[in-house]
Amino acid sequence: MLPSESTLRSAAPTVGADEVARITEQAIVLAGGTLLELHPTRMGQADVVIRGSQIVQVGGKIPDGLPRVDVHDCIVTPAFVVGHTHLYMALTCGMPPPASTPQTLTDHLQWIWWPLDKALDDDLVHASALAGAAMAAKAGAACVVDLHSSPRAIDGSLDRIEAALDEVGIRGVLAYETSDREGRARRDAALSENRRFLKKVRAGTTQHRALVGAHAMLSLNDDTLDALRAIADEFGVGLHLHVAEDATDALDAELNKRTRLEQRLERLGIARTDSVIAQANELTPDVVQQLARAGAFVATNPRSNMRHGVGLFGGSGDHVVLGTDGLDGDILAEARAYGFRHDEAKDGLGREIGARIAAGQVMAGHLFADPAPPRIAAGARADLAILDYNPLTPMNQSNVIEHLVRGWSTASVRHTIVGGRFVVRDRALVNVDERALIGRARPAASRLWERMQGYY
Ligand SMILES: [Zn+2]
Repeated sequence: MLPSESTLRSAAPTVGADEVARITEQAIVLAGGTLLELHPTRMGQADVVIRGSQIVQVGGKIPDGLPRVDVHDCIVTPAFVVGHTHLYMALTCGMPPPASTPQTLTDHLQWIWWPLDKALDDDLVHASALAGAAMAAKAGAACVVDLHSSPRAIDGSLDRIEAALDEVGIRGVLAYETSDREGRARRDAALSENRRFLKKVRAGTTQHRALVGAHAMLSLNDDTLDALRAIADEFGVGLHLHVAEDATDALDAELNKRTRLEQRLERLGIARTDSVIAQANELTPDVVQQLARAGAFVATNPRSNMRHGVGLFGGSGDHVVLGTDGLDGDILAEARAYGFRHDEAKDGLGREIGARIAAGQVMAGHLFADPAPPRIAAGARADLAILDYNPLTPMNQSNVIEHLVRGWSTASVRHTIVGGRFVVRDRALVNVDERALIGRARPAASRLWERMQGYY
């Protein structure tokens, strides 16, 4: 629970940067911050004690002698969760555009994203994931829900992403994009890659989690729907795929499969606990309600929707989370876009930014079966984003969401703590040498863009 007044400060000396990075099991105090939970909105001043992977004390008399990290004039809030992304897109920032301006979602897929995923080799899968994980951590994210595609480098691809996440120090929920667009052999390889990583999760040999991944309804044959459902049933997990991003899924169902999209979704068995349905812009409210009742989540990605010129997801509730759809790992930027887009639509959802961010944190807690909800409270997992923010105007519990929209930015993220460990400290990655990362990422991006020329 968040106390409403400042608590006593420890007299221990401030701990140095290197020392903080090494601290894992020893308790540390985050001293002097403004604690904030976004939904329901709760705000207060208190010191926070972390030990191991958990928050062990909030406010009250802090034991003497513990190392302290001064977070004065900072907001301390549960770390962000990227509810849907594609780390394999991380090296596309600045990439030359296609010769013609894409007009439809299909144009975007055929002219940009499918040439991109075909151009990925084993090394580029890892380099992209490393860059994407680094960007997410620096934007205050502790977890990404990733949907991966590299049809010329399928086998072992989820291990390469896992390795990148481990290098940076954030958690991931991984899935491979099964699709029929590249023929039967690659479809089977994709199904196998999903099964292989799910077995690894079941065996407890990875700290990450997995879902059964697929690209989108428009690129899945009926027997592939059955195969995906069988894997989800076997492992007792949800599915992760794009659904009804625009009207193409529904048209494909009617024109090519001689049925309705709703019947195909039922055949796939998507309405199950912890499924992650990306986009859903064209799903009817009835279908969305049904998915929510089953325990599935919808990940809405407003910036991606704008770029692709597709619709706006109008659903609400604690099952609706924010994703970045591969643009970056910046949930604050996504939240601002969500707010402005829904303000423009005059549907009232622009005020629900806090609820969207918090729903993503709850979703991650479900997927990882964390023992306590994502809050700033004793017993909760110590996944925290700490933002420098000392505004010129009054800030309190009633207006803090407006500060988030207009005042906060990713540049405000000073520290990111994941499972009690600093992965970003003073805006720098703790576990990865940033110069070395840039030294690897830039030539990798150039190589990727060049390889894409062969797949246009
Ligand atoms: Zn996506």
